[in-house]
Amino acid sequence: AKEQGKNRYVLYDKDMDKAFSERMIIEKLLHTAMEKGEFEVHYQPQFDIQTQKVTGLEALLRWKSSELGNVSPVKFIPVAEDTHLIIPLGEWVLNQACIFIKELHDKGLKDLTVSVNISTIQILQSGFTQKIIDIIDSYKLNPECIELEITETILIESFTTVLKKLNKLKGMGIRIALDDFGKGYSSLNYLKQLPISTLKIDKSFIDSVSTDEEGRTITRHIITLGRSLGMTIIAEGVEYTEQLEYLKKYNCDRIQGYLFSKPLPGEEVKKLLNV
Ligand code: C2E
Ligand code: CA
Ligand code: CA
Ligand code: CA
Repeated sequence: AKEQGKNRYVLYDKDMDKAFSERMIIEKLLHTAMEKGEFEVHYQPQFDIQTQKVTGLEALLRWKSSELGNVSPVKFIPVAEDTHLIIPLGEWVLNQACIFIKELHDKGLKDLTVSVNISTIQILQSGFTQKIIDIIDSYKLNPECIELEITETILIESFTTVLKKLNKLKGMGIRIALDDFGKGYSSLNYLKQLPISTLKIDKSFIDSVSTDEEGRTITRHIITLGRSLGMTIIAEGVEYTEQLEYLKKYNCDRIQGYLFSKPLPGEEVKKLLNV
């Protein structure tokens, strides 16, 4: 038993080492990935649940490393945040999203919106709001077609600072989406205090629609609550028809998930939209 314990310890140690060195490698490669042109933005369409028409696109970052191959954002975004590389990277994503939505608007799809994920590090940076406004202005875009997705982790840190910034952005017409709602320790208080236009119900709740009555009940009440606060409700990670049917029955506004479309390169989005 002692022997086994010892081996286990060694194994654990090696795993730690592996995770640590993987992180180090990601960190090292991230620094040059931008100049090597290894990033790309994909877009996942969001659909109106009734008409099944595309209403918006969520910009999702993709990294194809020459050395590591495709690296998931789940792995590299936290590293980009820790190193603050997320600041130039996030700015690049917003620029790409603006260029793409501008192109689609010019092709006649005037109502289409684009959503961009924003990290805590970005929002807490001084001059953040002005930078966002300047970028959107530089493409002569209607701010109402841009949505910034934030998560509650942003709020835990400096609520008052963040609230001020979000109010300023909202005042300019930019939409704010609360992402991953229901995941972790969601505070209903945030719904009351923040200038939120869109509520995105976390995939874990959508998953539970297929598995348990409690999940279904909570999901349907989140929809009612959000809608009565005037928000647009998006269900994330919809994979099954039965989830779609349930969400439709309880008046969810939009859905995003593999059932309708995975995140796609810009060219494929254009094909989907026939432009
Ligand atoms: P998120 O913002 O919650 O984005 C949704 C994630 O769920 C995406 O993963 C998307 O591909 C995936 N997804 C969508 N529909 C389905 C479905 O039906 N089933 C399943 N299993 N998954 C689905 P992705 O692209 O790997 O991104 C993961 C996370 O990385 C994002 O979660 C977001 O937190 C972060 N991220 C991605 N791009 C950016 C970015 O440009 N900036 C920042 N700050 N974070 C980003
Ligand atoms: Ca998101
Ligand atoms: Ca999400
Ligand atoms: Ca997330």
